[in-house]
Amino acid sequence: MVDVPSAHAVQSWRSLPAGQQPQWPDPAALDSAVATLTRSLPLVFPRECDLLKTRLAAVARGEAFLVQGGDCAESLDAVNATSISGSASTLQQLATVFGYATSLPVVTVGRMAGQYAKPRSATTETRDGVELPAYRGDAVNGFAFTASARTPDPHRMVRVYNASAATLNLIRAFGTGEQAGHGHALQRIRQFAASSPDRARYEAFTAGIERAGGFTGSDGWHTPGELFMSHEGLLLDYESALTRVDSHTGAVYATSGHLLWIGERTRGLDGAHVEYFAGIGNPIAVKIGPKTGQDDLLRLIDRLSPEREPGRLTLIVRMGASQVRAVLPGLVERVTAEGIPVAWVSDPMHGNTITAPCGHKTRRFDDIFDELSGFFEVVGGLGAHPGGVHLELTGDDVAECVGGGTGLTFDDLPARYRSVCDPRLNREQSLDLAFRLAELITA
Ligand code: PEP
Ligand code: MN
Repeated sequence: MVDVPSAHAVQSWRSLPAGQQPQWPDPAALDSAVATLTRSLPLVFPRECDLLKTRLAAVARGEAFLVQGGDCAESLDAVNATSISGSASTLQQLATVFGYATSLPVVTVGRMAGQYAKPRSATTETRDGVELPAYRGDAVNGFAFTASARTPDPHRMVRVYNASAATLNLIRAFGTGEQAGHGHALQRIRQFAASSPDRARYEAFTAGIERAGGFTGSDGWHTPGELFMSHEGLLLDYESALTRVDSHTGAVYATSGHLLWIGERTRGLDGAHVEYFAGIGNPIAVKIGPKTGQDDLLRLIDRLSPEREPGRLTLIVRMGASQVRAVLPGLVERVTAEGIPVAWVSDPMHGNTITAPCGHKTRRFDDIFDELSGFFEVVGGLGAHPGGVHLELTGDDVAECVGGGTGLTFDDLPARYRSVCDPRLNREQSLDLAFRLAELITA
């Protein structure tokens, strides 16, 4: 059913400049890891990717809402049932809130089961006069600041594949279990509302959610347990080794995750990432930052979605609270004027990162909310559909972002900071954000 593709199908990117790739020190070790992955089973299947594409087509038409979220960087040490089910459950709770707020069915997608490679702004990191390669995610090297941990090891790609398979196995089991149901999500939302400083407002809102039940798509879909998997398709050795041909249709798919996105740093038109993504049939997304030019965006869309198939392309806007209202209108107007069917989604995290006095990267809840509000104002104001949110979050009780109902401060960060990369919203902060946005949408 899914075969290894012909060499050409997935190797054309190799002749182009590929940003953010590790310097693997040992070519024989790389060949061996790639050979292992090439022989490995697909993690996801073409028909699942096609189903997600039809779901995202509904988002692009304004008939559904996307909730996408999870870790900035998954870590091999955190592959445990508590963290995985916590993230999946938090996404389900957000989906329940947003379904009610928008009166639309919600498509739920994790930044999970493959989110192990990170782009970095600097190739090295210096501490106390010692300079070592930057941490590039557990698929490449280790987080510990030692020369051996930071040396890229291609065998890590195989470990990440296995961890992703185990994560997916758990998630597929949860999807059919009691935990995935509407009732469980509601119960967790009720607990959150009851303990929130905004209890009176949030409990009234929760009562509304309970009265409404779930929402059904135009063709009858409503699937609370359905959770698709996504990650940044950064590491091209990994992605191309897991690319397969669907023998029924001859179409090529990345089988490492249902949806892959291209990051803000690697979306160059003439680069290897765009070349690789143009060749796969999955639904894909692109991050767009505040410097995105209108003409460049149209060229990128032409390259990645030449057929303009609805659901194929999602644009994840990450401009920063201070820029979104100025930069986004022109882009939405151009894309809308061309009649291009894309889903517009807000990532209010990556344009709002600051450094706390303790040295940790953090984000202010209020900035995150401000960017989301700006996104809804701009996209909705232009008659397009604000199609969803893309968040870095966890169900674990971490302190990485500041603010929100429980009022986390810079002083709370050192004791409960677990992220190996960017700061995530914890469950309470995630729900707080969803409730605040829901109030805005329904106002
Ligand atoms: C990310 O999603 O973690 C990330 C690095 O985002 P961006 O490419 O938008 O900076
Ligand atoms: Mn991040």
